[in-house]
Amino acid sequence: MFLDDLEKFTRKAKQRGIYPKIREIDGPSSDPIIKVNGNKFLTFSSNNYLGLAQNPEVVKVAEEASRQYGVGPASARLMSGNLDIYERLEEKISNFLGYEDAIVFSSGYMANIGTISSLMNPPYLNFFSFFKNFKKGLIISDELNHASIIDGCRLAKVEKEIFKHNDVNSLKNVLKARKSDNKLIIVDGVYSMDGDIAPLDKIVELAKQYGAAIMVDDAHATGVLGENGRGTFEYFGLRPQDIDIMMGTFVKAFGTVGGYVCASKEIVDYLKVSARSYVFSICISPACAAATIKAIDIIGQNESIRKKLWDNTNYLRNELNKLGFNTFKSETPIIPVLIGREDLGIKIEDELFNKGILAPCIRWPAVEKGKSRLRISVMTSHTEDQINKILGVLRSVGKKYNVI
Ligand code: PMP
Repeated sequence: MFLDDLEKFTRKAKQRGIYPKIREIDGPSSDPIIKVNGNKFLTFSSNNYLGLAQNPEVVKVAEEASRQYGVGPASARLMSGNLDIYERLEEKISNFLGYEDAIVFSSGYMANIGTISSLMNPPYLNFFSFFKNFKKGLIISDELNHASIIDGCRLAKVEKEIFKHNDVNSLKNVLKARKSDNKLIIVDGVYSMDGDIAPLDKIVELAKQYGAAIMVDDAHATGVLGENGRGTFEYFGLRPQDIDIMMGTFVKAFGTVGGYVCASKEIVDYLKVSARSYVFSICISPACAAATIKAIDIIGQNESIRKKLWDNTNYLRNELNKLGFNTFKSETPIIPVLIGREDLGIKIEDELFNKGILAPCIRWPAVEKGKSRLRISVMTSHTEDQINKILGVLRSVGKKYNVI
């Protein structure tokens, strides 16, 4: 039976030591020091960039909201689950980013799959005569886009063109060849495995020139990039109007859970009746909505937490480079450290773990074969001593295995 084959696959992967270690964390996982089996570890694998997951004010409003609303909405938004706190959160995030409106999903993954599929392939095509001349479009996607974008594109079941990572010429060639199509360009603002930034200023220029719409997944950029933490468009001095569909997740800089899309009021209202992951799935918990509203306030009012994040990031990356590590083209708090072979990546991850440090090895098929890497995420809450600790350990391990 086919399930036997799958069981065999899992057993073999574990025997060969390539099955990922899914470690059980005791207590919070968002602080620099976490506990695994009662032992303390210094972690560089949390995306709690600004330390808000544990912020007392954020936790307090989450507790209050649980008491006020209960712990779950018990129904989808289109039924009786449209709590006022969700509406307030949508207003908050759209105001923060400078958009007309927003829609909140249970996660960033849900936001991407629901949004991309319903924008490109409206579920009403066969029901409304209005759509009889609707021409299904073309998705133009960076080759390193996040898996949730790729899955959204698959669900959309429309044509796709993939351009070379961050290569505006490659994008231009596609746009030139497909002049008459309805085009949606989709990029990550910050790439989750490489830590580099999309050249959004040039992409926006090309999109305008060739009449394409743009969607940006700013999961790793909102709260982090730009003078006010508004993300990649702010970093490049662009305006919200330059990006038609702005997507993100609350799980990183905001420290909570949930995905969102900001757009015009009409597009948001369209998504609210057509994105299947919104219509047929539950929203985040009310506690989470309240916590996120507070987190947005803190990000908006507190520049210093972002400054500390960037100080930590720049210090660690510079020191890694001085030691001779290849950190790709990373410019953000995601710092990949190239190891190379997959078996070596696993070995080094284990060796770091044995020395009390958690920094996950990302390897094929999540990234290109032969480009396994430690994916280090820096947080505001890391101290200089903690950063020096990982530097010391990486120096000795890197030398031992001839990585540097
Ligand atoms: N987009 C990017 C770029 C991501 O890194 C992630 C992963 N967190 C997601 C989308 C999905 O977000 P979520 O974890 O909220 O589902």
